[in-house]
Amino acid sequence: MRTVYLDNNATTMVSREVLDEMLPFFHDRYGNPSSMHSFGGQVARELSDARHRIASLLGADPEEIIFTSCGTESDNTAIMSSLLVNPGKTHVVTSRVEHPAIKVLCEHLAQKGYRVTMVGVDSDGRLDMDEYEASLTPDTAVASIMWANNETGVVFPVEEAARLARERGIVFHTDAVQAVGKIPIGMKGSAVDMLSLSGHKLHAPKGIGVLYIRKGTKFSPFLIGGHQEKGRRGGTENVAGIVGLGKACELAAANMEKENTYVKALRDRLESGLLAAIPQSRVNGTRDERLPNTTNISFEFVEGESILLLMDQFGICASSGSACTSGSLQPSHVLRAMGVPYTMAHGSIRFSLSVYNTQEDIDLVIGELPQIIDKLRVLSPYWATQQGACTTV
Ligand code: PLP
Repeated sequence: MRTVYLDNNATTMVSREVLDEMLPFFHDRYGNPSSMHSFGGQVARELSDARHRIASLLGADPEEIIFTSCGTESDNTAIMSSLLVNPGKTHVVTSRVEHPAIKVLCEHLAQKGYRVTMVGVDSDGRLDMDEYEASLTPDTAVASIMWANNETGVVFPVEEAARLARERGIVFHTDAVQAVGKIPIGMKGSAVDMLSLSGHKLHAPKGIGVLYIRKGTKFSPFLIGGHQEKGRRGGTENVAGIVGLGKACELAAANMEKENTYVKALRDRLESGLLAAIPQSRVNGTRDERLPNTTNISFEFVEGESILLLMDQFGICASSGSACTSGSLQPSHVLRAMGVPYTMAHGSIRFSLSVYNTQEDIDLVIGELPQIIDKLRVLSPYWATQQGACTTV
């Protein structure tokens, strides 16, 4: 059975070109980039090349890039550093729809006595900018607002949020894990102080992330140890992962237009095809400011988990809520923050595409999903009640 992979916000396939560039660093060129000998020195040069490629995608200076193990480490490092370098400030501002890498950390900080403000979103998933601005106070150490939401794809006005923070002398961090590689990101002239990205979301492997730190931003390391990354992150570098991420960033830059034309057209075809074929379905989140690869669709009166299980029988991979929250029966915190009604939130599916998807993938889903939803609705007591109510009205 063919796999139709529409879960690229959870993780992506490592591109063949990325894999090819990585392989020599496991067996042939395994030197430690910190070693004095030339065998290690050659690897250090490859690492430097990769740093340049990654910086180029972000419009950053290579020195502003530090390598981490994942998006979660980058996010944690940014927030913890901002608190450590601002010891008199105990307030953190974030949004209610962040990924657990920020959300759960902030909940943990709140338990430790920090004051945390989680700014709300409207029913379209847009950040409440008035509430955000009002939440910035003299004791705010850091504001962290994601660039694009992993569940709905809604893109936030990060530059404006960063500017408002900067005007008040507050460090601004953005979790750009879902944005990098899908939409243009430019750090030159930006007011963003720190930015997180993760390799496995843009066709590089799992286990490699980046924290961008603007030159001049006060910083305190999270992993303390060796002198790697100029003392900003101890630990021998994941060389193969870094080389792979360098290549993936180069490919992402080359594919950016395709992402915003070809991928977007496939996403729109999927979305309009499903909405037309399945009654009582709707898109969650604004369709205007959105990642080109993501759609989050609710099918009323069915369980997202049941839809996933039946789609799996056709080789179709997607997510209900985010990958990290599936398994829990609570509707996603993102959809709850948007006020999506319970019967809709429970039946939400996130489809996230990549440049490796084809029209056949999309047409297979449009062909199979309406029957799956019909089948599940027949079994749903809520649907039966609703249908009964409709016939008596
Ligand atoms: N932030 C966002 C928006 C994400 O979507 C994810 C992963 O899904 C992360 C952070 C965590 O990244 P990682 O899996 O590399 O730790």
